[in-house]
Amino acid sequence: MHITRRKTRQIQVGTVKIGGDAPVSVQSMCSTDTRDVAATVEQIRQLETAGCELIRVAVPDEEAAAALPKIKAAMTVPLIADIHFDHRLALKAAAIVDCVRINPGNIGAWWKVEEVIKAVNDRGIPIRVGVNGGSLERHLLDKYGWPTPEALAESALNAVHALEDVGFTNLKVSLKASDVHHAIDAYWLFAHQSDYPIHIGITEAGTAMTGAVKSAMGLGYLLANGIGDTLRVSLAADPVEEVKVGYEILKSLELRHRGINVIACPTCGRVEIDVVRMANELEKKLGHIKTPLNVSVLGCVVNGIGEGKEADIGIAGGEGKGILFKKGKLVRKVPMEELMDTLIQEVELLAKEKEAEGNGASVPSVESQEWESVAADSGQPSTLGKEIPVLPH
Ligand code: SF4
Repeated sequence: MHITRRKTRQIQVGTVKIGGDAPVSVQSMCSTDTRDVAATVEQIRQLETAGCELIRVAVPDEEAAAALPKIKAAMTVPLIADIHFDHRLALKAAAIVDCVRINPGNIGAWWKVEEVIKAVNDRGIPIRVGVNGGSLERHLLDKYGWPTPEALAESALNAVHALEDVGFTNLKVSLKASDVHHAIDAYWLFAHQSDYPIHIGITEAGTAMTGAVKSAMGLGYLLANGIGDTLRVSLAADPVEEVKVGYEILKSLELRHRGINVIACPTCGRVEIDVVRMANELEKKLGHIKTPLNVSVLGCVVNGIGEGKEADIGIAGGEGKGILFKKGKLVRKVPMEELMDTLIQEVELLAKEKEAEGNGASVPSVESQEWESVAADSGQPSTLGKEIPVLPH
C-alpha cells in the first residue's frame, strides 16, 4: 500500500516541525499534577526516554502556570501548555512554552483570544486549536443537536477563519471525539477543507488495551488516508504507553521507523523456549534503542529461522539449546540460560553498528506530499472553497 500524505502547511513547535514534509510526530501529555514540579519532570524524563517528541501539560490554575519555567528548564523536547477557560493562564504560559493549546470556543469573549494571539505572536510560537466534543459552542449544539462530526468540523473551521481574519496562521488543529467513527468523520471533513497541519487523536480512548485498539483503528485509518501530522494516543494508563502505541501505529504503516520491532511467533506444540516472556522482556529492556531493528523470538527451529528471515537478528529454540541468527543465517548455538542476555547484548551491538553507519535515524518512509483535494499555499486562506467532502462510508 502506498500512502500519499495530505499536503499541509508547516509550523514549528520548538525544534519540531509539524506538517509539510515533516515526519508524523508522536506526543503525549503528563498525567501528573503540573504544580508538582518534581513528579512532572520525572514523568517528562520517562517520556523523553521513550521517544516522545512533544509533551503537553495541563495548566488549570495560577500555581500550575507558575511551575512552567522550572518544568521547561528541565526538559529537552518542546513543551505545550493545555489551557481551558481562563485566557490569563494562556498569557502566562505563552511567555514560557513552545505552543499553547486553547479551544477558542471555551475561552470566552473574542478580545481574550486576541490577547492570547498577541502573546504567542510576541514569541513566534503556534497555537493548537483544540476542538473537543465535550466543549462545543452552544450555537453549534443547537444547530446539530449533539457534537456531530459536522459540528466539530464547523467549530474548527470557524476558529481557523476567525484567527485568519486577524492575520494569525501559525496554528495546528485537533478535533477530538471518543467515538472512532465520529473522530474519523470530523477529521475527514476538516482535512478536505483546510490545509493546516492536524493533530490527530481519539480522546478518552480507554484503558491500555482498548484505547490502543481504538486508537490504532481511528488513527490508522486517518494516517493510511494521508491525514495526520502529529498524534497523541490517549490512554487511561502511564503516558509512556501512549508513546509506545503511537510509534507502533506509525511503524505498522511504515510512516516512521524507530526502535526495535519485536517479531514473536504465536507458539504452538513445537515451542521450546518461553516466547511470551522473552518477547515482553525484550520490549522492556530494549525500549531505549532508537535505531530501527527487527528482532525475532521464535519458539523452535522447525520453521524458526525461515520465519525469521525478515529479522535483522533473532533467536529460536532448538534441541535443548537456543539458536542465534542474523538475517536468517545461523550465527551460533547458545545455552538456554544465556539466550536472553546474549540476544540483548547482540542487539545493543547491532544498534551501535547501525548508528555508526548512519542508519540510526527515525525517518519517514513515505515521501509523497501530494493530496489531490488540498493545495497548500501558505499565502492563501486555508478553506479551499471545495464542496463539503463525502464521508468515508
Ligand atoms: S516458530 Fe515453531 S513454535 Fe513458533 S509457531 Fe512456528 S512452529 Fe510453532
